[in-house]
Amino acid sequence: MEIRAKQGSTLKYYSQFYNLPHILLQHSNPGQMAAIFKSHDRVRIPGYLDSKDGSDTAKIRIEEPLINPKIRYDFSALQKDIEVLTEAYPFMEKRIIGKSVLNKPIIELRIGRGPKKIHWNGSFHGNEWITTCAIMKFLNEYLAALTTGRNINKVDPLQIYESTTLSIVPMVNPDGVDLVLNGPPPEQFEKLYELNGQSGDFTGWKANIRGVDLNKQYPAKWQEQKQKGVSAPSPRDFGGTEPLCEPESSSMARLAEDSQFDLLLAFHTQGKEFYWGYEGMEPPESKIIAEAFAKASPYQSVKDIDSFAGYKDWFIKKFRKPGFTIELGKGINPLPLSQFDEIYREVFGIFLTSLIVL
Ligand SMILES: [Zn+2]
Repeated sequence: MEIRAKQGSTLKYYSQFYNLPHILLQHSNPGQMAAIFKSHDRVRIPGYLDSKDGSDTAKIRIEEPLINPKIRYDFSALQKDIEVLTEAYPFMEKRIIGKSVLNKPIIELRIGRGPKKIHWNGSFHGNEWITTCAIMKFLNEYLAALTTGRNINKVDPLQIYESTTLSIVPMVNPDGVDLVLNGPPPEQFEKLYELNGQSGDFTGWKANIRGVDLNKQYPAKWQEQKQKGVSAPSPRDFGGTEPLCEPESSSMARLAEDSQFDLLLAFHTQGKEFYWGYEGMEPPESKIIAEAFAKASPYQSVKDIDSFAGYKDWFIKKFRKPGFTIELGKGINPLPLSQFDEIYREVFGIFLTSLIVL
């Protein structure tokens, strides 16, 4: 919430009054680090609901999750939830790292300013949108834990916040997700109907809206992968005319280049397993982290699979840092929402471990 400041007050004062870590108030009010407020200034108080009179006397702490991502999570549902969370937890940063083919923003969220840089992403593939739901649910839990001071499974959330910078791109492929959930935009129907093998059922669509598989776009054995895949735009498995020719995949490449992540997790469905090798180029800590994930979840650790040109493949090859593809749930994509609770329960340990393992 946002309140009118008291004349002469400081962030330190609000930190005590609202029982909030000082650092969260600092990051919620950038540029006012050491300032003494005047009475017309506004102060953002994370984790509290707006009081009706705009004063700071009504203290209503947000205890329950603010969002419920266990729904058919299209881009507009995601956008709404991001708005709710950035409003309630303004220490979370939001920025647009690129645009999809249909000009939808590809949104990155950042939590924490610590030295260990961790990245998660979801919905590289349209029919794997349930990955975004799981990421957003954990994100809400983490944010709420920070402002209420509750531990997450015995882990102090503030310790995570101070030691890590968590970068999240919850929906890499918004056009693909919207196609799966809502069908094609009218003006694109004919073209997509053709690409889809003259079928009006788009639920199995993995690619972006131009029929390029975004996770077969990266310069890590791209040519080899291309020969195994299909040779023209298609609902799945077409690697594009050249590496990173699509705006979604190139935005994600740029993000990794600019950010120098220490650990990267790409969430997909399905298989209840995770992959962490690439041609022996993965660093020694990949194995240690894989062991920690296997301990924290029932998912199977698998070093190598016969598939290349994915985001984590390229990340390992280019930066020699640990990268993981995590395959949530089991069944035929898109996995039904009835699997969501089980998926969340099983991947929870991987989310949390990724934040404390380095
Ligand atoms: Zn996938």
